[in-house]
Amino acid sequence: MRTSRPEHERWRPTIAPRLEPWPREPAVIVVGAGAAGIAAARTLRARGISVAVLEARDRVGGRLVTVPLRGHPVDLGGHWLHAGPINPLVRLGTARGEPLRVAAQASHLWVGRRRGRTAEAAALGRAFALADRAMSRQATWEGPDRPAASALPPGLGPWGRRVERVHGLVSGQALGQVSLQDFPSMEYGDNRFIAGGYGGYLARLAQGLPIALGMPVTGIDWSGPGVRVAAGDTTFAARAVIVTIPTMVMRETALFTPALPPDVAAAITGFRTGIYEHAVLHWPSCPFRGGDQLANLVGGREACPGLLTCIDGTPFHFFELDAPMAAALDARRAGADGVRRLVRATLAAHFGGRALHDLTIPAVSEWRHDPWARGSWAVVPPGHAGARAALRAPVADRVWFAGEALSRLQWGTAGGAYEEGLRAADAVADRLRA
Ligand SMILES: Cc1cc2nc3c(=O)[nH]c(=O)nc-3n(C[C@H](O)[C@H](O)[C@H](O)COP(=O)(O)OP(=O)(O)OC[C@H]3O[C@@H](n4cnc5c(N)ncnc54)[C@H](O)[C@@H]3O)c2cc1C
Repeated sequence: MRTSRPEHERWRPTIAPRLEPWPREPAVIVVGAGAAGIAAARTLRARGISVAVLEARDRVGGRLVTVPLRGHPVDLGGHWLHAGPINPLVRLGTARGEPLRVAAQASHLWVGRRRGRTAEAAALGRAFALADRAMSRQATWEGPDRPAASALPPGLGPWGRRVERVHGLVSGQALGQVSLQDFPSMEYGDNRFIAGGYGGYLARLAQGLPIALGMPVTGIDWSGPGVRVAAGDTTFAARAVIVTIPTMVMRETALFTPALPPDVAAAITGFRTGIYEHAVLHWPSCPFRGGDQLANLVGGREACPGLLTCIDGTPFHFFELDAPMAAALDARRAGADGVRRLVRATLAAHFGGRALHDLTIPAVSEWRHDPWARGSWAVVPPGHAGARAALRAPVADRVWFAGEALSRLQWGTAGGAYEEGLRAADAVADRLRA
């Protein structure tokens, strides 16, 4: 396991919110100042309950962070506001007058060394539609669970392989590793972007909250009454705790005294690690023009799992790495520079080496090596589809969980994490007021 600072933590974020000091005797402690923790803290505060947040990093935002690259705000974690109609961060952003814009549905297509033809784009669109229909139809809660890959219709040919790769990329694992019952819950349509970055937006929402930074929690004693939370050389007491630590981090540490009930512990350890990493390209002469559009590169020698072009209409683009690609790179200890070499080789195979004359790769994210994330999001493997719900029930009415892993409809996303933070905080507030 690597211990050096992951590359995405080298920059200071674009926005550092002004934080308030801790209240003397908080009723509730929130562990983690990502989307879920910030939602929980804002909600408890709005309901008049004193709350304090402990965050391990020296910044807020967790897996949402926006940093300045060549003067432009670039997200090194989450970037899309998915599932617009049900995403609480879209609802809140609209009410606050945040600079949201609707993401284009259309995408570019590049086949081998040329632009894709209209008929090829139509064939890819049909393959996506067929696969989505087949997977949604077969993903019932009755009967045993199975891998999402087993529901893909046969005979889709090369376009089918592209569909499988894209679904694997956005799932965080190849579809053979993903629960079919869990898979279709995500509502991908109707996405938004936000000027200034998703991380910048979340940092604005943390303004004025009582968050202590640089305070990794090392123990949570829930033997009662209330809870005692250890961080640094201090133990803090409260009536309840909301834990938003990523499941991939929680399963590596013995945090709880007494140990969690077996069903809760099994839910946490049963998640797989989702991998999705950005290589940020600065490429002024990129052949794709316009703003914020996905590009499918197919038929090359090297695979490009995903490409988002012209972010905010700038020369910045995201080359996305999926789990198989990251695993292959890690197996040969390639590091961030190995990622850069692979990205260049992949793009050169499609566009020719000369087209890359002005390409630079200023940043590569490494969330899978980040000690406070250990991956991009939690993935439900086949047979584990009840895990999200299992974590929603409080433990002894003192310990609540929240975070992306718990969200059924918006799994793996910041919107889902925020929704779960709202839910947990409301449940705690109801409990304390009862
Ligand atoms: C590269 C990448 C791209 C993504 N793209 C998108 C996207 O486009 N759209 C989208 O919606 N989502 C996306 N996601 C997922 C999204 O970022 C996450 O689902 C969401 O931010 C998770 O929020 P959270 O509050 O559950 O967890 P986190 O943001 O991880 O917050 C948990 C917090 O707990 C802290 N912590 C951990 N351990 C401790 C401890 N022991 N003590 C105290 N604090 C601790 C962490 O530092 C962190 O700040 C992406 C993620 C990655 C990595």
